[in-house]
Amino acid sequence: MKGTALSGRGAGKPIGRYFSRAWQAWCWLGLGLIATGLHLVEPTSLMGQLSYLAVAVSASAVAWIGAGRAVGDRTVGRLIALGVTLSAAGDLVFQALEWLTDSPPDVSVADVPWLCSYLALSAALLRMLSLTRHRHGAFRDVLVDVAVISVLVLLVEWELSVGALVTDSSQPVLSRVVWALYPAFDAVLIALVLRVVATRHHLRGMSVVFAAGAMCWLLADFAYLVIASADVVSTWLDTGWLLGAMLLAASTWQRPDAAPAARESRMGLGSVALAMLPLLVPGVIELLAWLRGNDANPIALLGAIILLVVLAFLRGARLLASEARARELLRSQERYSSAVAANSSDAVLVLDADGVIRNDAPQFAALLGSPEAPTRGAQVLDFATPVDLVESDAAFARALLSPGHVFEAEFEVADRDGRPMWLGTRLVNLLEDPDVAGVVVNIHDATHRKLAEQELVHQAFHDSLTGLPNRALFGDRVGQALERDRRTPLHAAVLYLDLDGFKGVNDSFGHEAGDRLLCEVARRLLSAVRAGDTVTRLGGDEFAILLEQSNRPIAEAQEVSRRILQSLLMPVEIESQLVTISASVGIALADSDSTAASLMRDADIAMYRAKAVGKGQSVVYEPSMRTAAVERLRIENDLVHALERDQLRLAYQPVVLMETGEILGFEALLRWHHPELGVLPPDKFIPVAEESGLIAPIGQWVLGEACRQAAQWRRDLPASGNLSMAVNVSGRQVASDTLVQHVATALADSGLAPSSLVLEMTETVLIQDPETAAARLQELRRLGVRLAVDDFGTGYSSLSYLRQFSVDILKVDRSFVATITDAVAIPPIVRGLLDLGRTLGLEIIAEGVEYDVQREVLLAQGCDLAQGFLFARPLSPSDARTLLTGTLRSAAAVPTG
Ligand code: C2E
Ligand code: CA
Ligand code: CA
Repeated sequence: MKGTALSGRGAGKPIGRYFSRAWQAWCWLGLGLIATGLHLVEPTSLMGQLSYLAVAVSASAVAWIGAGRAVGDRTVGRLIALGVTLSAAGDLVFQALEWLTDSPPDVSVADVPWLCSYLALSAALLRMLSLTRHRHGAFRDVLVDVAVISVLVLLVEWELSVGALVTDSSQPVLSRVVWALYPAFDAVLIALVLRVVATRHHLRGMSVVFAAGAMCWLLADFAYLVIASADVVSTWLDTGWLLGAMLLAASTWQRPDAAPAARESRMGLGSVALAMLPLLVPGVIELLAWLRGNDANPIALLGAIILLVVLAFLRGARLLASEARARELLRSQERYSSAVAANSSDAVLVLDADGVIRNDAPQFAALLGSPEAPTRGAQVLDFATPVDLVESDAAFARALLSPGHVFEAEFEVADRDGRPMWLGTRLVNLLEDPDVAGVVVNIHDATHRKLAEQELVHQAFHDSLTGLPNRALFGDRVGQALERDRRTPLHAAVLYLDLDGFKGVNDSFGHEAGDRLLCEVARRLLSAVRAGDTVTRLGGDEFAILLEQSNRPIAEAQEVSRRILQSLLMPVEIESQLVTISASVGIALADSDSTAASLMRDADIAMYRAKAVGKGQSVVYEPSMRTAAVERLRIENDLVHALERDQLRLAYQPVVLMETGEILGFEALLRWHHPELGVLPPDKFIPVAEESGLIAPIGQWVLGEACRQAAQWRRDLPASGNLSMAVNVSGRQVASDTLVQHVATALADSGLAPSSLVLEMTETVLIQDPETAAARLQELRRLGVRLAVDDFGTGYSSLSYLRQFSVDILKVDRSFVATITDAVAIPPIVRGLLDLGRTLGLEIIAEGVEYDVQREVLLAQGCDLAQGFLFARPLSPSDARTLLTGTLRSAAAVPTG
């Protein structure tokens, strides 16, 4: 049994050692029992006496060995061994006295070690009790308990025989005192043993064996007290003492109990009753004595009662003290909780199922901007109004449905002053917990974090400069609008907008000024659209607008773009200069196949078309534009290599004197011999070249080539006389300060006389930036070249402008010439333009003369010079040369003069 109990405790070497140890002890116990038997057979014989002493002495030896081998606290074992040894010493002294004196006295020196052995055992038990893990002050309770039991036991003993013995005045005082000490020590020992047994939840090991041994002694003592002097009985008493000594010695070989935790004593009426109960015992004893007809000794009873009252008082005081301590602990916990709550940024609410606050929550009131307002009994909604009531109700309902579960949620609310806030909450339904009986809500202010989050999201979807939605968000909104389109008969539209000449602003005023201009444009765009429409900046100077569902989307989009272009007309002040900016707008309408990407691409294509037809306009997308856009993209890519791969050529259209057909000069017209697309006319690629900046090297090449060709013809055909060469220059070229340099180089390289070179530019080029243009024209004139206004009449030119730009030639646009259809009804505009030219003293060239009637009318109106298919199409250099040689020959053949 020992073995199984031990093997359950651990494993390995210590168990084996311990097992053998216990086995040795049991062996010895068996031998001891045999010796005890020998003593019983003939107690008074020498054999009997010696076997008694052998058992007693060996018990003390065994006890010391056991104590020495003990694991852990050895004090208990040593005290037990001391007790057993003292007892054995008493036995030896007593036996010696018996041998020496034949009949030893009732009281002798042997009583000293005997009595001391009780003290040693009591000390061992106290040590055992003190090893128990007690709550604060509980060991004192143990001592009081021990005292109470001791007094009661003593009282019973007193009644049984001790009283008579002690009060027997015929006996010497010393004897009476010694006799009184035995029951007194017994009482203490009994009390301690009971207390030890009561502390152990499961009796095992040392304490059981010890208790058994001590009980043997106590029973023997008790029997001795009650039935003293009976010789036969005394052999049985000897047996009790011997057995006791053996068991006590054996107990030292037992593993000491793991120090058990003291049982929690409940501070209730029960413990008060238990503390008072012993007070009844003296009364009961007196009653029994009275029933037996005895006279109980009142002094002893009174003494016992006084002692018990004192002890009960101590016990009561201790109960009161622990009660007070418990209260204090509770108060301190409450103070702790409220201090934590008061100094935490979180507010804690306890709500009932109807959302009524059941606690004082100053934090909560303060959090929501009304620090003084009482919370207990108030509705939570009185403090904070959720923006989404349905959502907050749902969260509360969820918590109510799942008691004990933690729910976390964030709500946007308005506080009592209507300020918006974000509250982070944590809800637990503890309605079923009787100590709480509410839904506990932890609340903290999440406003700052939420705002920061929103800011991050805003940054991710907005343009940092203008604050407008960015491309990602815009695409998303277009997608949503298309979704809605599918459910309604209405349609959305996208406007794509690109500022004209923004690069110029950036270049001349710097990026900061450019940024300010972009912000101003953003502001104007926003004021030109409806509230539900989305304006975005796609990057650079590109903007887009989403017009939500409309039943007449085209009209509305055009109306919006008209408003936008109108609003942009108002000049913006930048660096104390007024800058006017225009924009080109492309419009795309959603249809059933549209996607966000296709709609934005279509609007982009339409915008390019708008730029191409002349800036500051809006164009509605048509499917044909898509192919044009694809082609345009290709052209853009290929044009980069056109020059280096020698794909550019010049065609020459003669300028003739209509009267005679004499060629006075040529206009150089650019052609691109594209390897796959064939010969491309300039309007297919010049705008692209302008946009990409390639116009600079291309224009330089045209100038050089045209001058070279003119110079060559003049050298080869001296009869051609003062043959002129007209070269077209674009707006970008006029704006660039390298133009003058390029012209000078071309003239110098070719050796052409400056007066033979005519530079043509349109009115629009001139009025876009009048000051630069005027300055540039001045520089060019200083080189000696002549200047022509191309496509005259199509721009906004006014007389004053023409005066400002001192030019030499006006080229009346083909569209006016085309209006001349019969010889009688001359269109007034044509007459007006011709008059204007004459008034300014300019040379006039009519463009696009295709029919004889046009030639006649123009001649009749005093316009001598013209170009047109009627005379010649633009020709290759060799054809032009042939034509030139031919006219020269025929002119030579016609006799002049
Ligand atoms: P533009 O300066 O007005 O050139 C005259 C255009 O009218 C030429 O078109 C010519 O072929 C065409 N044309 C001449 N006579 C007639 C006629 O009787 N009927 C009709 N219907 N058309 C006629 P092209 O060659 O296609 O040139 C178009 C424009 O391209 C030119 O208009 C000019 O503005 C520009 N361009 C041509 N070459 C260059 C160049 O080297 N540099 C620059 N910057 N622009 C150029
Ligand atoms: Ca021209
Ligand atoms: Ca022209």
